[in-house]
This record gives sequence, C-alpha cells and structure tokens, in this order.
Amino acid sequence: MIAITLLGTGSPMPDPDRAGPATLIQAGGENYVVDCGRGVVMRLVAAGVAPGAVTAVLVTHLHSDHITDLGDIITTHWVTTFEPTPLRIVGPPGIRATVDHIVASLGPDIGYRIAHHDDLNRAPLLAVTEVVSGPVELGGSVAISAGPTDHRPVHPSIGFRFDHEGTAVVVAGDTVPCAGLDELCAGSDALVHTVIRKDIIADIPIQRLQDTLDYHSSPAEAAQTAARAGVGTLVLTHYVPAFPSGGGDDWKALAAEHFAGRIELGDDLHRVEIEHGRS
Ligand SMILES: [Zn+2]
Ligand SMILES: [Zn+2]
Repeated sequence: MIAITLLGTGSPMPDPDRAGPATLIQAGGENYVVDCGRGVVMRLVAAGVAPGAVTAVLVTHLHSDHITDLGDIITTHWVTTFEPTPLRIVGPPGIRATVDHIVASLGPDIGYRIAHHDDLNRAPLLAVTEVVSGPVELGGSVAISAGPTDHRPVHPSIGFRFDHEGTAVVVAGDTVPCAGLDELCAGSDALVHTVIRKDIIADIPIQRLQDTLDYHSSPAEAAQTAARAGVGTLVLTHYVPAFPSGGGDDWKALAAEHFAGRIELGDDLHRVEIEHGRS
C-alpha cells in the first residue's frame, strides 16, 4: 500500500486554509515529501511526520511556490536530528545551486547554533541529487524514478514515480500533457496531478493570471493523462483558483468527463490509500 497525503493544496496565491504545493508519499515506513510549498513543515507534522523522519525531499521544479519552505525542512531536520544522517534532496538540474544558496542564506543561523550548542558541531548534512529521468538510488525499499514533464518555460521540470511491492504512484507536479509524463505513468496505479481551472482563469482580465494558462493542465487534461495511462486513481491538487473548503465537486465532474476511475481531491491533509488492483 502507498499512502498519499496532500500536505498543501494551494498555489502562489496566499490562502489561510491551504498551504503551498507539497505531497507526502508513504510506503514501507519511508516518508517522501514532493515539493515544499508554503507551510510544508506545519502540515507534515500534522500528518504525523517530523522533519527528522523525512526519507527524502523530491522537488519537481524550481518555481518558488514549490520550494518556498525547503529552507524550513533543511533547518528543522538539522536542529532536530542527533545522528549525522544527511537529508536527501532530489530535483532537476539547478536544485544543487538552489540548495547551496538556501544554505548560504542560513549562514549566520548555522554559525550561531554551532557556537551555542556543544553537540551541534556541523552544518546541515545534505545529499543532493540532480536528475532528469531514470531511477533515483536512495537506498530505501521504495523504488523511485523520475521522468521529464513539460512546464516550459520552466525547464527542466520532472515528475516522480514510487514503486513499492507491486503498487505504483506518480506525482506529476506542474505540467501540460506530455510524452515524458505518459511514459512515467504507464502501468501505475495512481497519478497525483496539479490543476488549474482554465475556464475560470481565461475570463479574468489580468495578464499575469492569463500567463499561467499555457503551462498547466486543466482537470480535463489531467484526467486525459490519467485515462491514457490506465491508472485507477487520479488525485488533483494545487487548485487555481482554490475552491472553498469542502468543495471541489465541480472540479471532479470536469475530470470525470474524461476519466472513469476514482477521482480524489480535497483540503490540506486529504489522504488517499493506493493498493495495486484496487480503486
Ligand atoms: Zn510551476
Ligand atoms: Zn505551481
């Protein structure tokens, strides 16, 4: 069984009820965090996972809403662990430099804490891996692979696949439908996909919003990707514009026109369990 928890279902638009994009994937006692949007550590703890218990952080792309609180995970993992276990961070090319800049920005804090705590004598231990496609060796019981998505001009962007004991879940991140994602999803059981309501955004006369139309998927497009891949479950997240808490039936209906399987969406901390062959 693989458990999916939507840690943050929001977007760049601040929302008191929705954290920024982040998804928790749990299997075999391991905890993988995909993207680190606003408030990810608070939601992670609400889901019962301390930052020190994160097996790896996986970043789909370097848009700010997906990495805003990566620094919080790095810092909190660092100050709350006692063994020299590195925090593993995986992302597309560019993630290494981004992490280096975050750590550099924490320089004064790292210095203060090392000077003040006798048993804290090292900077955060981080193991960063850059990947575009193929297997990602993290040494756990969950097999992880990456595949290229299409979020241009944000490039490169990637999705992640988690395989555990015959069950497979793909987390797509922000993308339009593309062959790379189709390939990653083939034969998997569930797809977690970010979505925007293009029908609503198209009618809002703000150019900055209109600009988001051409590099995200609508519920219909995400559903078509899910249908092509033959997954049993489609999980929608990163709602733009967000629907009121407890809502989303209209989003579900739009996806259901193109996908006959189970469709899940909801508020932050919505949890979905995936078992191969069952939906
Ligand atoms: Zn993005
Ligand atoms: Zn985004």
